[in-house]
Amino acid sequence: MAEQNKTSTTADAGAAAAKRALAWTHTARFLTTASQLDQLPATELPEIAFVGRSNAGKSTAINVLTQQKRLAFASKTPGRTQHINLFELGPRDAPDMLWADLPGYGYAAVERGAKLRWQKVMADYLEIRRSLSGVVLMIDARLGFTPLDRQLLEFVAPRVGTGMVALLVLLTKADKLTRSESALALAAAQDVLAGYSSETSDVGVALFSALRKTGVADVATALLGWRERAGPLEPDTVAVT
Ligand code: GDP
Repeated sequence: MAEQNKTSTTADAGAAAAKRALAWTHTARFLTTASQLDQLPATELPEIAFVGRSNAGKSTAINVLTQQKRLAFASKTPGRTQHINLFELGPRDAPDMLWADLPGYGYAAVERGAKLRWQKVMADYLEIRRSLSGVVLMIDARLGFTPLDRQLLEFVAPRVGTGMVALLVLLTKADKLTRSESALALAAAQDVLAGYSSETSDVGVALFSALRKTGVADVATALLGWRERAGPLEPDTVAVT
């Protein structure tokens, strides 16, 4: 019996970290929606952007990460699909991070003018948004990086290279691949990402399945790590005793 009461194992510590991270992601709630960058609230809170092609599984991933059935489907309601939807996390009276759900791209039916507008909004957001501290890029594990995904990486590459912005690529719908296909998809993505990694960067890739919950706890843990790495909040939001 005494054996079971021994000091906690690495697995226990990992499970505790995942539980804490999932409790944090569960606090996510809708904050606001913006069709242009200048409508986004100026904020001192660190922000994570979720990006990906339409149908990559972005909404499903956000809903699974936050354990909320409908949160990211706010982003799918008519009139909001081209908007940036912001979610707030942390205690209600002391939010500690924002998540930005950016418009899905690459939808074939979108006319050229709309595509150009999208490119401008994305490029501006990813290059300029001061509070951006991380990007989660979702790509379908069966498709790998498409030209538009690479274009998006280029928008954010300068700040990823310096380590100002962390990058995590999720290979979504991994349940549709066999083990060997998954290994190949991972290796191919790592190859592409090697071009964006440097000594100062924080670049990662993971297999993800909302269906099987593959990667969910690890991603939540990574994102909480980004929040903690982003450092303390501005003085006026920290309780002074
Ligand atoms: P979005 O356009 O990127 O927000 O994509 P959605 O989250 O709406 O997902 C697009 C489609 O992929 C939907 O039919 C989802 O049910 C499906 N999907 C999303 N995640 C998974 C997954 O992990 N496994 C499988 N098999 N299907 C998924």
